[in-house]
Amino acid sequence: MNAQHKNIPVRLAGLDDGLHTFHFTVDPAEIELPPEFDRSVEVRVDLDKTHQQTALHTFVNTTAVYPCDRCLRPVALAVETDFRLLYVHDNSAEIGESDEDIRRIDVNHPVIDLSSDVRDAALVQIPMRRICGEDEEGEPLCRDAIPPERDADEHPRVDPRWDKLRSVNFDQ
Ligand SMILES: [Zn+2]
Repeated sequence: MNAQHKNIPVRLAGLDDGLHTFHFTVDPAEIELPPEFDRSVEVRVDLDKTHQQTALHTFVNTTAVYPCDRCLRPVALAVETDFRLLYVHDNSAEIGESDEDIRRIDVNHPVIDLSSDVRDAALVQIPMRRICGEDEEGEPLCRDAIPPERDADEHPRVDPRWDKLRSVNFDQ
């Protein structure tokens, strides 16, 4: 990605101290979300700026469509999430290694790009197991017939990381 091109730019230059709200509508491909994200991503940023720092509360809203693990019927997954970040303006401020959500703003180029944060927040909303749903008895709500070889209950998806382990013969 071009470093100069920011997909979700929050520009702090010229912004008065106080509360501000920004809205963005982003093409999922622009922030490198997979094609299963088939609708634009709505982003709202509530921002509180002071002389020393800018606190951001970002809300992400979109949908992704994945095939059901059982019947392959497309399942629309609502993606609604939010996250908080803190940017300090003061170059002398100490930031601990563990403070992942606290960052330093470049005072000469005070633009925060939220693209990768929004992408990561959206992706973690997609569950590993994607099915049409289950009723109260735990029976699948799939309306299409489930091919037996795809029935997730009889053929649980195997984590490929276990393949190496399973090939080890522990009897030797
Ligand atoms: Zn299904």
